Amino acid sequence: MTDSGKDGALLAAATGNANKLREIGEILAEFGIKVISKKEAGAGDLETEETGSTFEENSLLKAEDVMKAVGMDAIADDSGLVVDALDGAPGVYSARFAGENASDEENNAKLLRMMEKVPDGERTARFVCVMTLCRTDGSVIRARGECPGRILRAPRGEGGFGYDPLFVPDGYEESFAELSEEQKNGISHRAKALAALREKISKEGL
Ligand code: IMP
Repeated sequence: MTDSGKDGALLAAATGNANKLREIGEILAEFGIKVISKKEAGAGDLETEETGSTFEENSLLKAEDVMKAVGMDAIADDSGLVVDALDGAPGVYSARFAGENASDEENNAKLLRMMEKVPDGERTARFVCVMTLCRTDGSVIRARGECPGRILRAPRGEGGFGYDPLFVPDGYEESFAELSEEQKNGISHRAKALAALREKISKEGL
């Protein structure tokens, strides 16, 4: 690891999710950087329209928005489920697959309906996460993580959120919603994107 981080440097995160904030904060603490939420940075009401067609574009839009609003370096993530048999859907539309304010249950029901006729061997999918760190000097560091698996025929498990009850990661029999939080966090797309981000910062500096 290099000592490229600036001691005492502050970074604003686009997410308001406490778990994501903690995970991002733990990684960047290694580089002497403290991560605060956009709310703590004074942009609690900022809602970025996710108009991009890729995870890369949307995470950049969110990070840039926060960076400009608070005048500090900022980090954002964008994630979703990519299903091979559906040509990559729901993808960047994962949160609003069944409509603008759709619930997890509605999104999951739509996914199951669309995959009714897809045979077991063709139900491959992956969760994708892209993290973008956007600096006030215009430089950008981006990292992608993927977790491959398959889509079940009915929901299983009570944990997690989103599509977790329908997704079984490769190498496991349990769905993401049946695994413990620690197990999921060890193999998730988000964990992999954060590990890739750590690697990039170690190599390229910040
Ligand atoms: P966002 O990047 O937090 O906006 O997530 C987009 C959407 O992708 C979420 O609303 C979920 O539907 C889905 N998603 C992202 N990550 C996960 C996950 O780890 N488990 C289940 N669903 C996820």
